[in-house]
Amino acid sequence: MTVQAIANHTPMMQQYLKIKAQHPEELLFYRMGDFYELFFNDAKRASQLLDISLTKRGTSNGEPIPMAGVPYHSVEGYLARLVQLGESVAICEQIGDPTTSKGPVERQVVRIVTPGTVSDEALLNERVDNLIAAIYAHNDQFGYATLDITSGRFLLSEPATEEEMQAELQRTRPAELLYPEDFTYHALTEMSKGSRRRPIWEFDLETAKQQLNQQFGTRDLVGFGVENCALGLAAAGCLMQYVKDTQRTALPHIRALVKENKDQSVILDAATRRNLELTQNLSGGFENTVSSVLDCTTTPMGSRLLKRWLHQPMRDFTIVNRRLDAITALKDTGLYVDLSSSLRPVGDMERILARLALRSARPRDMARLRGALQQLPELESLLEEIQDEAIAPLKQACSPMPELTQLLEEAVVEAPPVVIRDGGVIAPGYNAELDEWRDLADGATKYLEELEARERDRHDIDTLKVGFNQVHGFYIQVSRGQSHLVPPYYVRRQTLKNAERYIIPELKEHEDKVLNSKSKALALEKKLWEELFDKLLPHLEQLQRAAESLSTLDVLANLAERAETLNYCRPTLSETRGIDIAGGRHPVVEQVLDAPFIANPTLLNAERRMQIITGPNMGGKSTYMRQTALITLLAHIGSYVPAESVTLGPVDRIFTRIGASDDLASGRSTFMVEMTETANILHNATENSLVLMDEIGRGTSTYDGLSLAWASAEWLAERLKSMTLFATHYFELTELAGQVNGLVNVHLDAVEHGDEIAFMHAVQEGAASKSYGLAVAGLAGVPKTVIQRAKTKLRQLEASGHEVVTGEHAPQVPAAQLSLLPELSEVEKVLADIEPDNLTPRQALDALYRLKTLL
Ligand code: ADP
Repeated sequence: MTVQAIANHTPMMQQYLKIKAQHPEELLFYRMGDFYELFFNDAKRASQLLDISLTKRGTSNGEPIPMAGVPYHSVEGYLARLVQLGESVAICEQIGDPTTSKGPVERQVVRIVTPGTVSDEALLNERVDNLIAAIYAHNDQFGYATLDITSGRFLLSEPATEEEMQAELQRTRPAELLYPEDFTYHALTEMSKGSRRRPIWEFDLETAKQQLNQQFGTRDLVGFGVENCALGLAAAGCLMQYVKDTQRTALPHIRALVKENKDQSVILDAATRRNLELTQNLSGGFENTVSSVLDCTTTPMGSRLLKRWLHQPMRDFTIVNRRLDAITALKDTGLYVDLSSSLRPVGDMERILARLALRSARPRDMARLRGALQQLPELESLLEEIQDEAIAPLKQACSPMPELTQLLEEAVVEAPPVVIRDGGVIAPGYNAELDEWRDLADGATKYLEELEARERDRHDIDTLKVGFNQVHGFYIQVSRGQSHLVPPYYVRRQTLKNAERYIIPELKEHEDKVLNSKSKALALEKKLWEELFDKLLPHLEQLQRAAESLSTLDVLANLAERAETLNYCRPTLSETRGIDIAGGRHPVVEQVLDAPFIANPTLLNAERRMQIITGPNMGGKSTYMRQTALITLLAHIGSYVPAESVTLGPVDRIFTRIGASDDLASGRSTFMVEMTETANILHNATENSLVLMDEIGRGTSTYDGLSLAWASAEWLAERLKSMTLFATHYFELTELAGQVNGLVNVHLDAVEHGDEIAFMHAVQEGAASKSYGLAVAGLAGVPKTVIQRAKTKLRQLEASGHEVVTGEHAPQVPAAQLSLLPELSEVEKVLADIEPDNLTPRQALDALYRLKTLL
C-alpha cells in the first residue's frame, strides 16, 4: 500500500497498516480492548482457518475493510490451532495508556508466535519435541541446523546427499523449516508444514559466525568444533537470527552449538524410519508404534528423550553398555519403582526452565519448579543405594539445591494464580514492605466492621451496613424506611429500590488509603516477581543440567520397568560380526495379538549372510523381518530387547525395503518408490549393514520382477556381503542357496487341512514347499467359484510349464535358466531359430557369419 493510500485511512487504520507492513508474512493480531482483531486478507485467512465470522469495519478506497476477531482471554486456543496449521502470528498489544493518549493508543508487536519457536505450555504437545530448523545447500551438499527452544538444544549436521538430508528431516520432523529463497530441493521443503523462505543474505557465513559468537559470548567457534562447517553454520546463523527476531528477548539458555556426527549412530534412512513405525505409524498416528509400547515414562521430558533415543541408535558400544548397565542396576535392585514415583512431581522441568530463560514463566511454573527441586533430596538418597558407574554422573548432576529450593519456598505462595497480573503470587513473609501494604489493604475489613458498628449505634439505624462495589467504591447503606434518620453530613451516592447509599469523609479517606495500598502492593509484587527471575537465572545452567539428568533417569527407570514387565533380555554386544537372536519377538505385534506370539530365531554372520524367506502370505514374514530390525535397533539405544538371548556385532546401518506405498504426492508410482529404495540400498549397504528386503519386484511383470530380485539378492550376498533378510514370493530364488555362498533358505510354516489353512508362524530352515496363495485367497473371502476356477487355471499353467507365475510346487526348471528367460539377445534369438538339420553347408557358413556380425 502506498504512503498516499495509507494517509487516506483513519489514524487507527494508519497505525495498523504501518505495523502490518513490518509483518507481511504473519497473521497480525491487533489488540483492541478485549479483542485481537485481524483485518483485510489476514481476516479472511483467519476466518477460514479458525472458522470465525468475518465482519466489516470502516472502509478502504470505498470498500468495506474485512475484519475478524478473537477474544483476548481465549487467544491461546486459537494460537494453538494456527501454529498446528503451520501459521505464524504477530501479537500486537496496546502499550500506551488509553486514558492519556491522543489519537490511537500506542501499540507494538510484543511477540511472534511461530510453529517452531513456541514455548507456551498451552501450544505444545508435551510428549513430542518441537523443533525449528534451517536448511542450506551448496553443490548438492547440505547444511542443517535444528533448535529446540524449550531446552536450548542447538544441533548442526552436514548431510552429504539429498537422501541423507531427507532422512534427517524424517528423523527430526521440524515444526518449522527455514530455507533460502533460491533453494531448489522442493521435495525437502515440502516435508515440513511450516516451511518459510528467507532472504539469501540471512545465510551468509560471516554474519552467521558473528551472530553465533554474540549469542554464546565467544570469540570464535573453535571450541564447539564447528568452525569448518560452512554449510551447517550458514543454516545455524539464519536460524539464530530468526529466533532472536521472533522472541524479542535474550535467550540465555542457548549456550552451545553441537555438531552431530553420523559416524556415531546407526544410520536409518527416511523409508526405514517410516517402515519401522518407531514413533509414528504408517498412517501418521501414534498407536501401535514402538514408542507406544516402550514409553511409560513419568515426565513429559523423559518421554521426549526416549523418542530421541529411538530415532538415534548409537554405534558406540561404550555409550550403549553404560545405558544397559544403568538399566540392569535399576532393574536388579527393583529401584526403578521408587525412582519413577519420585520423579513424577518433577514434571516438565525442561520446558519450565525455557520459559524462565525467556522470562515468560508463569506463577505456576515457579511453583512447579519448586516442586521439582523439593524432590531432589529424596532422589539423592534413593540413588545412594546404587553403586553403578553409569548412575554416578547423573546423580551428581541432580544433587539438591537447597538455596534455590528455599528461595522458591519463601517467595511463592503454595498455590499461585495463573497470572501475575492481579497479584497474590508472592508469599507473605518474603518482603516486609509488601506485607505492610497488604496489611493495610486487608486491615480495612476490621476497620470497616468497627465503623459499621459505631455508626449504627450512634444514629440508631439498625439496617445500616458498610459495603463496597467496583463502580462506586465504599458506601454506607441504609434501608429506605430508615433513610430519614441519617445525619446531614451523609452524602448520597446512589439510590436503589429499597435502600440509599451514602459516603462520609472518613470513609472516603479510608477508601483512598485502601486503593492506594492495593496498587502499591501490586506494583511491588510485580517488581519482586521480576527480581525472582534475576535471582534464578544465574543458576540456569545448573538447573538445565539437573533437568537433563532427571530426564535420563526417567528413561532408564522406564526401560528397566519395561524390561521387567515385558520380559525382555539384555543384549550382548560383541566385536564379531553378526546377529544372533534366540526366541525373538516383535515388540508391538506381541502386544496387540490375542493369541500367543511365536518366538523365532535369527542367525546372520560372516558365513550365513542372507536368509531367503519364503512362506505363505500372512505367514509372518514381514513380522519376522521387522522384529529382527527392531531388536537390533533397541539394542543400540541401550534397551533390553524382546528375545530370550541376543548377541550383536557392529551394525552401521539398517535398511528396509518393505511394503509398497505409492508416493502420490511426489508423483512416483509404487514400483518407482520400490526401485529408488532398492537403488539406495545397493549403493550404500556395507557388510555391517542389516538389510531387509520384502517382496521386491512385485510392481512389474513376473520376469522383470524375478530378474531384479535375483540380481539384487546376488549383489547383496556376494558383492556387498550385507546381513540380509530377503522375503520373496519367487520360489525360484530359493535355488540361489545352492549357488551363492553364505546364503540359506528359511520359511514360515503353514499346514493345510482340506480347504482350511493354519499358519504356524514358526521360522524353519529350508525353503517352503507351497505358496498357499489360493488357500489364503479363500480365507480372505474370495468367492468359492472364483477359487475353483483359479485352481483349474493353475493346473493348466503348470502343465504348460509356467509355474514361475505362482509356484504352486517347487520349481522343476533350474532357476539359473529361468533367470535368463526374460530377455534373449539378438544372437540367441537367431541361434534359436536355426535348425542345423535343414541347412546346407553353404547356409551353415552364412549363418555363422551372420552370428559373428551380430556379436
Ligand atoms: P506376511 O508378511 O508373511 O504376509 P505378516 O508378517 O504380515 O505376514 O503376518 C500376518 C499376521 O500374522 C500378523 O498380523 C500377526 O497377526 C500374525 N503373526 C505374524 N507373526 C507371528 C508370530 N510370530 N506369532 C504369532 N502371530 C504372528
